[in-house]
Amino acid sequence: MPAESYVEQPKTLADLRADLAAGRTRAADLAAGYYDRIEKLNPRLNVFLSLTKERAYEQALRIDAVAAKGDPLPPLAGVPVAIKDVLVMQGAPSTAGSKILQGYQPPYDCTAVARLEAAGAVLVGKTNCDEFAMGSSNENSAYGPVRNPIDPKRVPGGSSGGSAAAVAANLAVAALGTDTGGSIRQPASFCGVVGVLPTYGRVSRYGLIAFASSLDRIGPLAANVRDAAAMLGVIAGHDPRDATSSPAPVPDYALESDQPAAGLRIGVPSEYFGEGLDLEVRASVEKGVAALEAAGCTVKRISLPHTKYAVPTYYLVATAEASANLARFDGVRYGYRSPDSATLSDMYSHSRDEGFGAEVKRRIFLGTYALSAGYYDAYYLKAQQVRRLLAEEFLRAFAEVDAIVTPVSPFPAFKLGEKTGDPLAMYLADIYTVTASLAGICGVSVPCGVTHAGLPVGMQVLARPMGESTAFRVARAVEAVEV
Ligand code: GLN
Repeated sequence: MPAESYVEQPKTLADLRADLAAGRTRAADLAAGYYDRIEKLNPRLNVFLSLTKERAYEQALRIDAVAAKGDPLPPLAGVPVAIKDVLVMQGAPSTAGSKILQGYQPPYDCTAVARLEAAGAVLVGKTNCDEFAMGSSNENSAYGPVRNPIDPKRVPGGSSGGSAAAVAANLAVAALGTDTGGSIRQPASFCGVVGVLPTYGRVSRYGLIAFASSLDRIGPLAANVRDAAAMLGVIAGHDPRDATSSPAPVPDYALESDQPAAGLRIGVPSEYFGEGLDLEVRASVEKGVAALEAAGCTVKRISLPHTKYAVPTYYLVATAEASANLARFDGVRYGYRSPDSATLSDMYSHSRDEGFGAEVKRRIFLGTYALSAGYYDAYYLKAQQVRRLLAEEFLRAFAEVDAIVTPVSPFPAFKLGEKTGDPLAMYLADIYTVTASLAGICGVSVPCGVTHAGLPVGMQVLARPMGESTAFRVARAVEAVEV
């Protein structure tokens, strides 16, 4: 373990619930305890951009009143949850890690956030992230990087670094993040927590400040697989406000995750274990594979040959969609407006120039280029075609295996500043996560080992669309030998 470390294991949802039901804890005291810890650690870790104390205490008191009457408690009663700052909460600052949304207070709640609260969760605050969720290290936040609680000299991963760090440091019991190309799974792996990429359409995107709409997903982070599954059960399900949300019924994911993994067929794709993979990461993931075999799974080595096209495909689709989505930030109706512009056109360009950071601008340029007349067919259209091939390749593989396991990231958490000078190297490191994003399938990132330097390693468990329960079962078998 590194010399300076702030890791602490939160209580499980089941223990918290038992404490509340028996009157051993009050939700208001629990919230106060979390705010004490946040106030102590946030100056060092920079996990939260803002706190939502008033709303949290109102909710906690509501829960305490229910508990005092002896009425049945809702499923997430009193559970302190942190919310990534790209998810809007009525009246709470929602910056998406960008200067351009400084001071913006949305007039409505994100569906996933509202569902958590309706299930009794206490929303403690908004977590730091890469600007508009663009990044893999949290160093692209306009409000400074988050530090990894395991070793504050290192990044927590990104873009949901604040949410992953919040759970790892026990500044919240669970958190919501978003994942467009790895932003839940990779920080979960860097911080040693569990992160879920739900199937595209499983969780409503209403109230998510869009980065790339055909890829963006909201999902939970938690300290263990069962709690992550329970969180997903609350936020999943159809929402008339998101036309892409699925009407499929929501299973009891926590309960289904209790099913043993024995008998499941596990695919291990060779393309995810090649050049560039850190040896210690490789060894930990292989150890996880061995654990699955010991738990009664059948392991099959498979091949997913289109994997090598995934990074360029992702960075075309994601930037093209981002360039369109970010056109709305112009300084007119909300967010940052440049103070001294002589003309309307100057006001637009100064506001955008001063409001967006370097990485966001780079992506708007790349995306605008890919969509421009003459290049559209060569880049954007081609990328859409390759995306289809990647999805079909996964579906073919899932005819033979129930889950596919891979590393989450080629390396563990790196030092702050180590990779900021080379955006391309940062993009290439997304190789293991962008494939599932493009294919629309689901997955879980679960800790599967620790390096000699004490850094956690995550295993990615992928499953077919709407196959979350299978991914949870496999992840629990890995977790059972690691924790
Ligand atoms: N690291 C990837 C990117 O920078 C993924 C980000 C995300 O999933 N939001 O685009």
